[in-house]
Amino acid sequence: MKVLVVNCGSSSIKYQLFEMNDESVVAKGLVERIGLDGAVLTHQPADKEKVVINANISNHTIGISLVLEALTDAKHGVISSMKEIDAIGHRGIHGGEKFSDSVLVDAGVIKAIEDCIEMAPLHNPPSIAGINACTELMPGIPQVVVFDTAFHQTMPKKAFMYGLPYEAYEKYGIRRYGFHGTSHKYVSQRVADLMGKDYNDLKIITCHLGNGSSVAAIANGKCVDTSMGFTPLEGLLMGTRCGNIDPAIIPFLMKKENMTMEEIDTYINKKSGVLGVSGVSSDFRDIEKAAQEGNERAQLALDMFTYEVVKFVGSYAAAMNGVDAIIFTAGVGENSIEMRANISKGLEYLNTKIDNEKNNVRGKEREISIDDSKVKLFVIPTNEELMIARDTKSICSK
Ligand code: AMP
Repeated sequence: MKVLVVNCGSSSIKYQLFEMNDESVVAKGLVERIGLDGAVLTHQPADKEKVVINANISNHTIGISLVLEALTDAKHGVISSMKEIDAIGHRGIHGGEKFSDSVLVDAGVIKAIEDCIEMAPLHNPPSIAGINACTELMPGIPQVVVFDTAFHQTMPKKAFMYGLPYEAYEKYGIRRYGFHGTSHKYVSQRVADLMGKDYNDLKIITCHLGNGSSVAAIANGKCVDTSMGFTPLEGLLMGTRCGNIDPAIIPFLMKKENMTMEEIDTYINKKSGVLGVSGVSSDFRDIEKAAQEGNERAQLALDMFTYEVVKFVGSYAAAMNGVDAIIFTAGVGENSIEMRANISKGLEYLNTKIDNEKNNVRGKEREISIDDSKVKLFVIPTNEELMIARDTKSICSK
């Protein structure tokens, strides 16, 4: 069975074609700058040279039709016709409270994604555009949506409610939803395999640390809490997002700086986080370099990030009354040896200790704690696309 996994952003489409018999990636690629000058498709077949195709790509339908042409092309293609694609799996961002699992696309599902647009204005419209494009270009091929919010739907009410009047929840669905769910699910299931334990018997804390970052607590196979909230702004400070702040700061700043709603939104989403604190960059590699060169604000940004991760892990160990494994994933979690070492220093009270030699690894799956560490530490590269392909296969095989 072949599954095409599609991840549509506002001006991009990432794709991977999986052969599900052995879960191998047959081809993958990226369409960038949709609707802009200089649009380009980069297509990487597994066993052939990479190709770069410049074209006028004014919308997602044209983007996906170019992807299909690349996949079936006589020279750099990997399948003879698109009939070989058995199913399509889409990355969905916000599924609200409707979806606690992946779903087969129908008119009701599209309506439900539309209903969540107000909560994810940047993400849900391109998801719908991607689904509609596939329906138009590959009629009859089943499509599945795997939502970033779905894995977190098992959170108990005490964890997902905010201390606002109850009507805010009833009227507008204001509650914690959580994001990066597909990643938290993949790495937590994977750690159970690596530990040779039953997923349902473990208490796991997953640290997805990248440009966007979130931490999740998974007890007995179910997510019980996570740091992102109503939107992906809550929780840790991130590349450009402020994370948790006192909400009273918002009206205070708006008044003092005479900011509009849009301006404050940009301020907290795009100008804050480690970029805002360091004044250097949103990229952790640049900040680590600047800190090494003596830049104090870069060091402060790194210290704040480390401290916040340590605090979230501690609070989730408390929420679950224990923890068996802590996982580092995503760009920073998979690659920053120093960040993992610093975070782990703050967790030694949990009877965990990092093994500096084992920790000397980037982007590889491995346990990184010393042998007699009670709480195990792991690096597990995330693979959201594979998780989407697996869910798509499982739903379409039913
Ligand atoms: P992601 O959003 O998961 O793609 O992660 C992107 C972040 O990972 C960026 O801030 C990168 O700077 C960071 N990153 C990637 N490689 C490294 C590395 N070797 N050391 C530190 N940070 C890294």
